[in-house]
Amino acid sequence: MSRASVARHTGLTNVTVGAIVTELLDQKLVSETGETSSTAGRPGRLLELNATAYVAVGAKLADRALTCELTDLQANVLAEAVIPLEHPSAEEVIAALDHLVSELLVRASVDRSQLLGIGIGLPGVVDRAAGIARLSPFLRWVDVPLADLAEEALGLPVVVENDVNTLALTERWFGRGQGVADFLLVTLGQGIGMGIVLDGDLHSGARGGVGEFGHVVVTDSLETCDCGNVGCLEAISSEGALLRRSAALTNSSDVDPVVSMDDLYQRAKHDAPHAALLVEAGEAVGRGIANIINVLAPELVLVRGLGNFGESLLADHIRLAAERHTFPGLADSTELIFEPLDDGPWARGAASLVLSELFMSPVAVTSALGIPGSRYQ
Ligand SMILES: [Zn+2]
Repeated sequence: MSRASVARHTGLTNVTVGAIVTELLDQKLVSETGETSSTAGRPGRLLELNATAYVAVGAKLADRALTCELTDLQANVLAEAVIPLEHPSAEEVIAALDHLVSELLVRASVDRSQLLGIGIGLPGVVDRAAGIARLSPFLRWVDVPLADLAEEALGLPVVVENDVNTLALTERWFGRGQGVADFLLVTLGQGIGMGIVLDGDLHSGARGGVGEFGHVVVTDSLETCDCGNVGCLEAISSEGALLRRSAALTNSSDVDPVVSMDDLYQRAKHDAPHAALLVEAGEAVGRGIANIINVLAPELVLVRGLGNFGESLLADHIRLAAERHTFPGLADSTELIFEPLDDGPWARGAASLVLSELFMSPVAVTSALGIPGSRYQ
């Protein structure tokens, strides 16, 4: 892309674009790669993003492990590392981050001065603007100012966000959500979450409290949810709930207990009580999805998680219930897709948090690159 085409796309004057490009060249964020082939007038120099000039770290914090990925400026993963952590404190997380970041930089042969910052995705209500994990039942955290604590200890910019939101960012930029203005990402696992992208932007809600899809009330079941309420989706359809309910079925029999979701899908093929568990769980998830479709009318609902569930009875009944409860006028305009899920995309999305701050805010660029006036000095 030339300076002239940047001016055309942005509506900025040639003079302004020239000044900005000079600054970006100085910071090594872009480089000149050749000349335009235009026959009219003087040829322009072509510019491209220098993707390897800087790197970011994305971290996915779960209740039993911390996964970190080092990425370049286009969120290509350069190295990955995992540390097991059992219900860690903020201090334990920061110590593990310190260790993993150093290891990743060595493994990718990248100098620490090229590291722009760390994005951390964690379960629960996370206020990105304030940098605070407000409530994370899985981690047993309340009002933990993780961004400030980590910035102070590590000397790097740190951004925190709800983990499902970091995954939604990955889908938005690199996955199924590319070019889709309005979509929902539903994650099924130990918890049940939702990332909401509207008009191409991640919807954050007041103080980060968006997407607690696991606690929509969709059932008359009297199972108590971890949040203390009854009727929550998570109380009958999360991985923990399904395995717990399966254990209750096999407790008094001499049948082997079910140990994983894939195991449960297999058992349901020839065992009516297990099949009924999946039907009930799928019906509840589908009903919840239909409720949100009826309010937001997204183009796409992407459901991810729970092992190889795409071919299972659970997926079948999510789809059936979602179709049955979606308002007829909306049913044809929403696509429903099921995919499995591993830990990789979560951390990549967290790294993208750092990159999005870099690309969206000139203040963040100067901050991250150590220019005076930064909050990170
Ligand atoms: Zn609940």
